[in-house]
Amino acid sequence: MSRVRGRVERGGSLADFIWFRTGGPAEWLVRPADVDDLAALLADLDPAIPVLPVGVGSNLIVRDGGVPGVVVRLPKAMARVTIDDGRVRAGAAAMGITVASAARDAGIAGLEFLRGIPGTVGGAVRMNAGAYGRDVSDILVEATIVTRAGTIETWSADRLGYTYRHSAVPAGAVVVAALFDGVPGDPATIGAEMDRIAAEREASQPLRSRTGGSTFKNPPPETAGGHKAWALIDAAGCRGLRRGDAQVSDKHCNFLLNLGSATAAEIEALGEEVRDRVNAQSGVMLEWEIQRVGLFPSRLREGLGEGVVMHDPASGHALPRPLPRAGGEK
Ligand SMILES: Cc1cc2nc3c(=O)[nH]c(=O)nc-3n(C[C@H](O)[C@H](O)[C@H](O)COP(=O)(O)OP(=O)(O)OC[C@H]3O[C@@H](n4cnc5c(N)ncnc54)[C@H](O)[C@@H]3O)c2cc1C
Repeated sequence: MSRVRGRVERGGSLADFIWFRTGGPAEWLVRPADVDDLAALLADLDPAIPVLPVGVGSNLIVRDGGVPGVVVRLPKAMARVTIDDGRVRAGAAAMGITVASAARDAGIAGLEFLRGIPGTVGGAVRMNAGAYGRDVSDILVEATIVTRAGTIETWSADRLGYTYRHSAVPAGAVVVAALFDGVPGDPATIGAEMDRIAAEREASQPLRSRTGGSTFKNPPPETAGGHKAWALIDAAGCRGLRRGDAQVSDKHCNFLLNLGSATAAEIEALGEEVRDRVNAQSGVMLEWEIQRVGLFPSRLREGLGEGVVMHDPASGHALPRPLPRAGGEK
């Protein structure tokens, strides 16, 4: 097992940085130094150990029992954005707004929608993030990924099999960079469109709250009479609905909020209640858009079960199972 040059933290808190600010810790939180460091780690890691990449958790519920295995968070060093022959090349840790701003400054139009998506490039490539009728599949040329086996590969957008808020990025693979394309445009016009998006977001979304963005995917028009998820949730009387400190936003009812001390279980249970109510009212079973990861607290001590040996990613030494009870659990 290779030694990781980056940072390795046992029981590293995820609640410290994900948008909902709640949920359990990572069994191991790894911040690789660079792509080669990440590739070496994954190549040497027991294939039975799960790997979960995270960005800034703007689309994530981390369950209270924490995430078994290795959670990979890319470092700032992998957030560089450059212009390459009229295209935008971005490290996967870069934020959407940084990519949109670089495109504006270089006179590249078509990436403005990324201004409104408060996540990283890695999360956007994985989620096929989008807004205002455009999504990542419209602008992505190719993405570089480190597979779970530790190989570094460049995948074309076609290979990523994009559909609405979905990609074929394999489980455990980490997107490390992306190349985006647009069309020539006037920086002032692009900038004005970005400002419009920012103002519209400010007016319609709870941007300064602990939230996970749109909770549910908009259903296909043929199943919901063209109604968006928020309208179905509103019609089912769920606006403002509460469970503990978890609440359906009054401002945008496809957003769930942590008002302060909500557990991940309360947030997820509130989401399930919304799905049930919408189904009873309109016959549409909404599909989660937010990614729910990790274990329920009752499974905290079960870990990955017998037969899986966990290795310390820093030293390579085998570790005792089951998992220790980690400090971030609420
Ligand atoms: C206020 C608000 C507004 C939002 N508006 C929109 C919107 O308009 N449109 C939209 O599509 N989304 C929206 N979102 C949701 C969210 O911003 C996007 O899904 C974003 O792309 C997630 O990026 P992230 O870096 O936060 O990913 P995370 O939330 O950390 O992770 C999301 C998923 O991506 C995976 N992932 C993250 N990084 C990587 C990586 N490097 N390699 C492989 N997989 C990775 C994770 O494993 C997880 O499955 C909004 C969220 C908020 C809070």
